[in-house]
Amino acid sequence: MELYGVRIPTIVADNIAARCSGCGEVIEGRPWRVSILDIVAPEAPVAWTDSAALNPGPFEFHADPSHVLTWMARRGMLFCRRSQVREIMRPVWVPTEPRRLGLCDGIHRDDHEFIDPAAPAASRS
Ligand SMILES: [Zn+2]
Ligand SMILES: [Zn+2]
Repeated sequence: MELYGVRIPTIVADNIAARCSGCGEVIEGRPWRVSILDIVAPEAPVAWTDSAALNPGPFEFHADPSHVLTWMARRGMLFCRRSQVREIMRPVWVPTEPRRLGLCDGIHRDDHEFIDPAAPAASRS
């Protein structure tokens, strides 16, 4: 396009393509968006540093849960194996030392079972 005689190059398609937060490759078609709910801490107010460190997303991925699990593993997050990777994940602070963030879909009613997300992604080929 041209504005007041100055040629303005339009944004190229490269900037529009979404990249997968898991593998870093361009996503063809509709990305799978995953958002993290705000941390709910009934027993203590959330420290400012905690809430600032957590980016709620949405993060965009290929439509394959393994890409989401790869992303979680890289960020040191745990995955509740009683849940599934869904569009909205609930963060749970796992009482390890140092404490880690686990993600669960929050749908099951029994206890969480947090595991390292790299393990199921590798064995589920
Ligand atoms: Zn991917
Ligand atoms: Zn769970």
